Amino acid sequence: MFLNEFKILSKLDSTKILTLYLNVDPSTHDGKKTIWFKWAKTAAKNLQNQVKEEDLNEFNEISNKILNFLEAYIPDSKGLIVFAGKNLWKEYHLMVDLQNQIWWGRPRLLQFEAILSLNKRYGVLLFDKEKAKFFTYHLNVLTEKKDMELNLDTSQWRKQHGKGGGSFSAGGSGASTDLYANRESVAIESFWKNVGKKAEDIMVKEELFGIILGSSEANIKRFIDCCHNLKKHIKGTFVIDLDDNILNITNSVKNSVQEIELNNQREILDYILSEYKAGKKAGVGVEEGLKNLQMGKVSTIVVNRGLDTIVCECLDCGFVTAKKVSKCSRCASEKIREALIASIIPKLSKEYGSSLEIINEKLVDKLQKFGGVGFILRY
Ligand SMILES: [Zn+2]
Repeated sequence: MFLNEFKILSKLDSTKILTLYLNVDPSTHDGKKTIWFKWAKTAAKNLQNQVKEEDLNEFNEISNKILNFLEAYIPDSKGLIVFAGKNLWKEYHLMVDLQNQIWWGRPRLLQFEAILSLNKRYGVLLFDKEKAKFFTYHLNVLTEKKDMELNLDTSQWRKQHGKGGGSFSAGGSGASTDLYANRESVAIESFWKNVGKKAEDIMVKEELFGIILGSSEANIKRFIDCCHNLKKHIKGTFVIDLDDNILNITNSVKNSVQEIELNNQREILDYILSEYKAGKKAGVGVEEGLKNLQMGKVSTIVVNRGLDTIVCECLDCGFVTAKKVSKCSRCASEKIREALIASIIPKLSKEYGSSLEIINEKLVDKLQKFGGVGFILRY
């Protein structure tokens, strides 16, 4: 859903849009609305000074619309994004942290885009022997795909069992029970194969990063044996009852995703450090990372969360360096601005087609002595 919205917004060609990113997380603001509301009011006022004379009326009208909205707004999420124009109103309520930002001009999409690319989309499959439910998990929200629920039709083989019972009586009830168990087992496995096929379809159709399975331990083991093709897409599993409440399911998925991403990042970091030591396909360091990234050599760049290194960006050609310079080494321009690396890397990684991982707090020690930046080379 957000991906489509993002595409629509990136096609807007109006230059009179007010973009607002606001951290409204009730838990970090102690439930106090005044803090973020005050920030927005002051920021909108400051922004007014930068607006062109002829656009001022329109700006004021739109900015008032947003402030009136905020005045009545009671957040039930962590982050609020608003894009507002004369004939445009888009609001998004996200369960992820945002950095406060306000902008007048074309829609300011960088933070939105960074959030989308850093938060992978997962499929979640909950199942037991007779039922399967599908969900997607994105931006910390679990959404059930109600139209995709699958049920095993048990009426046929149960009826057969009841009818056939008599004719097997000569062979003793043991044989009859075995046959029943066998028939049940065949029916379940064929049901699961069907479920697995459907999960694979969604995986491809919705471009999900992977699938997470929830069931009993025994079911999960049997299911994976049953669905070979799905195996490579399964990123994690957790034990749960299919009819558990949605809060417990959401928490289990959240924990599972955290574990998957932690393991994934640990693997990437171990790979980078071992390849770096061997002098091969990876490297570390802020300047080395920026240099290789801008030469188009980097397939994946990893940056420690919260890294506050200052870099210099050329406003003419966009070249970025960690060295303190007053003149661009690429185009000799003297229009240089200082910026936080955290705000520069998402833009650069997109420009040069590299994937970006922001390393979890729990793992930042591994990279800290290398400046908090590591990278994998394409070749
Ligand atoms: Zn330059």
